[in-house]
Amino acid sequence: MKTKVDASHSPQRDPLQILRDLVTNEFECAICLDTCTNTNVNPQCGHRFCKVCIELSLSKCKHECPNCRARIPTYRTLRQDAQFDRIVSTYIHTFIVVGNTLSYHLKIIHNQTLTS
Ligand SMILES: [Zn+2]
Ligand SMILES: [Zn+2]
Repeated sequence: MKTKVDASHSPQRDPLQILRDLVTNEFECAICLDTCTNTNVNPQCGHRFCKVCIELSLSKCKHECPNCRARIPTYRTLRQDAQFDRIVSTYIHTFIVVGNTLSYHLKIIHNQTLTS
């Protein structure tokens, strides 16, 4: 689940949210709008989707990239992108570690502001 953040109403955006948005937008599957899992890439255009999402899309409708409409003749045209999956999991892992550290420090700063 994604929550939309209205930047205009929150000038001090949560740094964690900025990081989260970055990761989500960069690794987003255009079909399910979530982070790609078992990523498949269309070599024609370089767009990436979850394996299940693109399989479903190809079985349901026209054989084209849901992002840019480049032709995808068969599912076998697509390539598994294990390296992309590794990058995604590395980023998400880093994000969790950085996020935890960041919120820990923010809490300390917040508490110091309250007590001083
Ligand atoms: Zn997907
Ligand atoms: Zn495409």
